[in-house]
Amino acid sequence: MGSFYLVLATRLPKEESILTPPSHCDNCKKKLKFYELIPVISYIFLKGKCCGCKKNISKLNIIVELCTGILFGLGFYLYNFSYELFAFLIISSLMIIIFISDFKYLVILDGPLFIGIVAIIILKFIYFGFNAFINSVLSGIILFIFMLLVKKIGDKVFKKESLGWGDVKLAIFIGVVLGLRLGFCAFIIGSFLALPYALYYINRKKEKEVPYGPFLIGAVFINFIFMDQISNFINLLFLAS
Ligand SMILES: [Zn+2]
Repeated sequence: MGSFYLVLATRLPKEESILTPPSHCDNCKKKLKFYELIPVISYIFLKGKCCGCKKNISKLNIIVELCTGILFGLGFYLYNFSYELFAFLIISSLMIIIFISDFKYLVILDGPLFIGIVAIIILKFIYFGFNAFINSVLSGIILFIFMLLVKKIGDKVFKKESLGWGDVKLAIFIGVVLGLRLGFCAFIIGSFLALPYALYYINRKKEKEVPYGPFLIGAVFINFIFMDQISNFINLLFLAS
């Protein structure tokens, strides 16, 4: 899955096909044989170099493969077979794809996002019934409208694009998977995570645009794992006031 996500996240933003050409060396274009396509193992076996031209293979390959394996394993360890496991796998998959495509190309792909949203809605219906399903859909719509308002106001105030459409569409996924309270919580955590990165790259490196998607989906991941603790914390805050 990790190798596949890397192909999706690096080819789709450039509008290349994910089927052709088959996996090849980016430098000498040599087509890879089956024993050069085994995740992690081939990379170690080839010592990180193409066996045709000896050029280094991008470390991103082994990093993405390892991270995907570890995350999927963690999912089974934490949740066994349950709704939580499937939701965790979907969040992790989307997180890997958004990390690559948004950091590299400032793009959040519609396809994986759409599949993630639909899959979560169906899972909620199967596991928790009709009310949970409606709740999930409504939360998605409300967070989408909220993010759209933030974008429209931001665009007016700063007189340029303040928020990408990808982030606005990502809000649907956040609402669908986390619901309203935890969803808003993910916005807050995501913004705090993004702040140091944005300050550094805009002030120091003079970048004009920085990605927000990886921080948002990272916050979704954190909110999902620590859902109970964060819910308790929010309850305490409301009780205290
Ligand atoms: Zn090569």
